[in-house]
Amino acid sequence: MDTDPAPLLRFNRVSKTFGAVTAVASVTCSVGHGEFVALVGASGSGKSTLLKMVNRLVDPDQGQVTFDSSDVRDAPLAALRRRIGYVFQGVGLFPHMTVAENIGIGPKLEGQSANRSRIGELLELVELDASYAQRMPHELSGGQRQRIGVARALAGGPQLLLMDEPFGALDPVTRDGLGKRVTALHRQLGLTTVMVTHDMAEALLLADRVLVMEGGQIVADETPKSLLGGAGGAIAQGLVAVPRDQAHALSALEARPA
Ligand code: ADP
Ligand code: MG
Repeated sequence: MDTDPAPLLRFNRVSKTFGAVTAVASVTCSVGHGEFVALVGASGSGKSTLLKMVNRLVDPDQGQVTFDSSDVRDAPLAALRRRIGYVFQGVGLFPHMTVAENIGIGPKLEGQSANRSRIGELLELVELDASYAQRMPHELSGGQRQRIGVARALAGGPQLLLMDEPFGALDPVTRDGLGKRVTALHRQLGLTTVMVTHDMAEALLLADRVLVMEGGQIVADETPKSLLGGAGGAIAQGLVAVPRDQAHALSALEARPA
């Protein structure tokens, strides 16, 4: 929170425009150590751009991002990215590399190599057997590929995990299982996590705190419980209405006599 004297991550009036489009408009907010934050909003609201400012895939035109009390622009890029795991929108595995090579790509770019036991350990974290190490990405299901994406993000032993719509392309059952696994890992590894999603139900169920973006700004910053209690304003409540109405409709259906 903004009252936290030393949050792990802080955006201080960051803005980014692309030509005539303002993707992020003077955002200020902080993420504390150990928080699991969901960043929710319509397509084009600026979620990915804000997330990418953290690991410098995008640099802001104005403002500053601090990670662990230092400006992200002050750290060497490789060192910064080792401390920040990133799960890409749409996975982005290299098709011509094995699972082990994909997982080890970060350490390798830094001249280190992830040995077999480390790869096995990372596979175990995402609940895949060590024998998957030698498979090629096309031999995996969508859910297994996304597990590899998560294992790759964890390979450097990061403090902060960023995920950009990590479960967007998965079927609901796989998505639910992987969501639960990621929240368990968040706790087990003591991570701080920021997850972009356009799905408010997923945000409410997985995160401790939900930020809602609209037109490049954060328009709500609430806990799931307060959002469900009606807080956060019209845009946030419009997003909450969708899963709530579905839940009510299902309950009514369940209660109906056979
Ligand atoms: P979201 O992730 O919420 O869908 P983005 O952060 O990807 O939103 O995009 C916010 C706005 O910035 C959109 O209008 C998008 O088209 C624009 N935008 C994002 N990245 C670029 C880019 N590299 N070049 C031009 N416009 C971009
Ligand atoms: Mg996006």
